[in-house]
Amino acid sequence: MAGSPTYPTREAVDFVVIGSGAAGGVMARELSVAGFNVVVLEQGPYRRAHDFTHDEIGVVFQGELSLDPAEHPQTFRARPEQNAEVPPQGAGLPPAWYAAGVGGSSVHFTGNYWRFRPVDFKERSLLGEIEGTTFADWPLTYEELEPYYTRVDWEIGVSGAPGPFDPPRSRPYPVPPLPLKSSGAILERGAKALGLHPQVAPMAILSKPHNGRPACIHCGFCLGFGCEMNAKSSTLAAMIPQAEATGRCEIRTGCTVMRLEHDERGRIRDVVYLDENGVEQAQRTRAAVLSANGAESARLLLLSQSAQHPDGMANGSGMVGKNLMFNAHSATHAWFEEPLNEFKSVQCTRIVHDFYETDPKRGFYGGGGIDARPLVNSWPILFAMGGIAPGLPTWGAEYKRLLERYFTRNMSVLGNCTSLAMERNSISLDPELKDVFGRPAVRVTYEDHPDDLATARFMQDQSVAILEAAGAQRLWRDEVRPSTGGPHLLGTCRMGDDPDRSVVDRYHRAHEVNNLFVVDGSNFVTSGRGQPTMTIQALAFRAAEHMTKAARAGEI
Ligand SMILES: Cc1cc2nc3c(=O)[nH]c(=O)nc-3n(C[C@H](O)[C@H](O)[C@H](O)COP(=O)(O)OP(=O)(O)OC[C@H]3O[C@@H](n4cnc5c(N)ncnc54)[C@H](O)[C@@H]3O)c2cc1C
Ligand code: SF4
Repeated sequence: MAGSPTYPTREAVDFVVIGSGAAGGVMARELSVAGFNVVVLEQGPYRRAHDFTHDEIGVVFQGELSLDPAEHPQTFRARPEQNAEVPPQGAGLPPAWYAAGVGGSSVHFTGNYWRFRPVDFKERSLLGEIEGTTFADWPLTYEELEPYYTRVDWEIGVSGAPGPFDPPRSRPYPVPPLPLKSSGAILERGAKALGLHPQVAPMAILSKPHNGRPACIHCGFCLGFGCEMNAKSSTLAAMIPQAEATGRCEIRTGCTVMRLEHDERGRIRDVVYLDENGVEQAQRTRAAVLSANGAESARLLLLSQSAQHPDGMANGSGMVGKNLMFNAHSATHAWFEEPLNEFKSVQCTRIVHDFYETDPKRGFYGGGGIDARPLVNSWPILFAMGGIAPGLPTWGAEYKRLLERYFTRNMSVLGNCTSLAMERNSISLDPELKDVFGRPAVRVTYEDHPDDLATARFMQDQSVAILEAAGAQRLWRDEVRPSTGGPHLLGTCRMGDDPDRSVVDRYHRAHEVNNLFVVDGSNFVTSGRGQPTMTIQALAFRAAEHMTKAARAGEI
């Protein structure tokens, strides 16, 4: 294995990649394998597999994989005319939830890896305008992206088997499906009884050894946790080691990028960051790739103001930060007579995609997918706090009996749905609150479109029907409420052909800055049906290929 280089900050490297998450990890690997010198600046630490634990208090309740909210507060408001506030302590997760560290949120994600279908890219043409939204077609097709979805399958590592509604694929899955869990078997039972078509859940988790990585050992501390086996296909496990093996990729951790600076010709010249000692540094570069996610990429562009870019870098259209989409969702919970033992293994093994497409007969835009998984993820403490059905004792002997009985007999069915893009939903700079480095805090403005909530309620009705058909002993719904945050951060640097309506072009190059690329969840034009990361990474493989060609042709 080649050694990791240390590049001097005052000599230009070929590319600086900002953020090492689902997209940044792919960019680092692809660009360094292509022969370019790459510096990755990542604000979080470099945790290896042996650093991860099953400590529910540390990981779930103290959020040790994310930034400290006391140092990096965020504010939220539903509408632009309201004052944004920091959600009260104990109210749950930050509005824009992500993990900080090498691998980003791919370290602690669930790993549901659904491809988009052809329809996702051209819904606006098929369905027409939706008032009050910026509903639009993507500037690319499924057919164009298919080879890169296949690269995600094989190079990131996805377990699965074809389903009845899947789009065409050029290669089979590299490894077979993960073993069926009880929740998956029950979803199948209920869905089939209703005439639906349950299918294997494609997961970015290895069922068999692949690319030098081992198979999952079904430890059960998966969603929210890092994988101690490197079986979860984070970019930490799948991409970063290969980037470093080139000897051309330096991963600089504990480095928070503050702004991008351009020269008199308007080209990015320096990426300014605080190093792990809090000292300001500037890495000179020939080109920058912003892969800091749908919240932080927008914030960085807005922070990078100059005389040439008074409203933020690459923001002549005013679209930076706009069109935020979270993916609406629903949750329905159930207890069963028989033990299900859902605390074991990965989260999901079966899904239902019968309601994926918009059906005009429903009377609203939207669609989604349904999955089955443990109730409140089967974390023991969280289950004790939230796993008991409403109306039953949460104290005393009966509570203890219920906990003992139902920790092994619970499951949930989730609806993962579309969200419509609207300009009023955004990431912006909070005008008052600052973070520990003096930067304006992330301000999230978000109110679901009525169709998003209608879709989530529709999906919940289907979930209830499935659980009833499967013989649930008791079931209850989480009320579908307006979103106040989420882990899917999409749309804030939209891609498009029109520089007045989008931030980057179809190859992720900023319309206004020739050597700046934005590659992450922020580029989404529509939200898809709830599992965006497969598409984020297919786009990243595609972007890297085009950047490589352009750089070699002297066009960056
Ligand atoms: C608990 C959880 C479960 C999820 N499960 C699924 C799932 O099952 N399926 C699915 O499709 N998606 C899932 N997601 C969403 C998925 O993780 C994200 O869509 C994906 O990781 C986004 O990729 P990204 O590259 O845009 O950003 P990220 O993966 O968030 O990476 C961004 C990186 O940039 C770094 N960064 C940010 N700002 C700066 C800065 N100023 N300087 C330096 N570094 C910076 C961050 O620390 C981070 O490491 C889940 C998310 C969470 C939180
Ligand atoms: S369940 Fe499997 S993939 Fe998930 S953390 Fe445990 S070993 Fe890793």
